[in-house]
Amino acid sequence: MATGTVLGTVGGVYSIELPSGETIEAVLRGRLKRNKRSDDRVVTGDDVRVSFQDGQHVIDGVEPRRSQLERRAPGPGRHRPKIIVANVQRVLLVFAAARPEPNARTLDRFLVLTESSELDAVIILNKVDLLPAEQVSAFLAPYRAAGYRTLGTSVVSGEGMSELRALLCTGRSVLTGPSGVGKSSLLNSIQPGLGLRIGEVSEAVGKGKHTTVASRLIRLECGGYVADTPGLREVGMWEVERAHLAECFPELRALRGQCRFDDCSHTHEPGCAVRDAVAAGRIAAPRYESYFALREEETA
Ligand code: GDP
Ligand code: ZN
Repeated sequence: MATGTVLGTVGGVYSIELPSGETIEAVLRGRLKRNKRSDDRVVTGDDVRVSFQDGQHVIDGVEPRRSQLERRAPGPGRHRPKIIVANVQRVLLVFAAARPEPNARTLDRFLVLTESSELDAVIILNKVDLLPAEQVSAFLAPYRAAGYRTLGTSVVSGEGMSELRALLCTGRSVLTGPSGVGKSSLLNSIQPGLGLRIGEVSEAVGKGKHTTVASRLIRLECGGYVADTPGLREVGMWEVERAHLAECFPELRALRGQCRFDDCSHTHEPGCAVRDAVAAGRIAAPRYESYFALREEETA
């Protein structure tokens, strides 16, 4: 009996890294396969117990998860969260300072997702060589004020690359963001060829509609792991329950219990501490606007 980490899965076969560094392939024990509604039962990043039976490696059990990145699947049954990857430390949200312009609403959406999964988010603004430093700071200011860690990077000038390397080379990171922002370029400058490896699966998913491809964990030469998470691509379709949305904005969450009404929606009620904070400039207006817009979008 050994314990290992699931690096990925294809067609019911799980690739598992053992503590020795060796990778083996294993199938699920019958008991784990039965009465499950989906393949959420064992996911990439899970620590599993493996034994050798009848000539093959078999997954006998799953250790409790330390964290899970989840989203609500679109379509029927969407209220059942789908686990994208387990046991990751952080989510690196990559946007570009320009080409393409950063979209704050999209970033806020990703942040709601990481907050609802209770994971740390780091906001990476890449291509800072294309924008004056003051504008970079202005874009990142509301996020810093909300307590997020932010990092400006450039593959061209090398700015922020040592900090990025330090992040990626410890623990497990999810790296995501819109296409064209420089994710592959950043990964390649950490480890040549890495961006291409990650791009392969994501590209394939983009082409076939509704294809579900499991996430993969890729071990970096420097020691960390980076997760390729195709399931995060259409993040626009995810849903968080309306009542839970304010909890996913740290600066709104900080004012919990301070509004006149306990069930304040922070949209129109008198005596709203959130709206007072926005009016006084203590909460950045664009962040509040995102809250407002995302709230309107939710159907829950
Ligand atoms: P991905 O789709 O997020 O993986 O983005 P890519 O890594 O493919 O990069 C998209 C484009 O942006 C390419 O033409 C890169 O050369 C360019 N690019 C990436 N990083 C930077 C950067 O830091 N500065 C500038 N000016 N261009 C960059
Ligand atoms: Zn309120």
